[in-house]
Amino acid sequence: MHGCDGCTACCKVLKICELNKPGNTWCRHCNIGVGCGIYDTRPESCRVYECVWLQTQRGGRPIAFELRPDKSRVVMGVTNQGDDLVLYVSPDRPDAWKRGGMVKLVEEMHAKGFTVIVSCGELVQKV
Ligand code: SF4
Ligand code: SF4
Repeated sequence: MHGCDGCTACCKVLKICELNKPGNTWCRHCNIGVGCGIYDTRPESCRVYECVWLQTQRGGRPIAFELRPDKSRVVMGVTNQGDDLVLYVSPDRPDAWKRGGMVKLVEEMHAKGFTVIVSCGELVQKV
């Protein structure tokens, strides 16, 4: 089973309220591409967070390794009680979700009835 090992993508893209860390900015505690510099004392929101890619690694249909967020540059989450898939992309890579396997994944999610939302900085749009 694959895990985070060396992916630190969410430590950039997501807001961390406890640290007053805005989205799309590297956390000051992140060893980029290595892991958390304060792992044992990291905030609760970091402790509980698992992106969709990571969640699927435990199941029977894991999302492909090449779509891990450090490789795809897309951090996947859900909202609306799991009915909507949210693709968080950094404003310096706004089209990351349009590449290769991500496009196929978006098509599959549409076919399953999910609404897919791209969140890129201040811009949030259905795709
Ligand atoms: S984006 Fe997902 S795989 Fe990458 S570090 Fe965060 S939880 Fe782990
Ligand atoms: S505290 Fe650690 S886990 Fe949380 S965002 Fe910063 S580097 Fe990532």
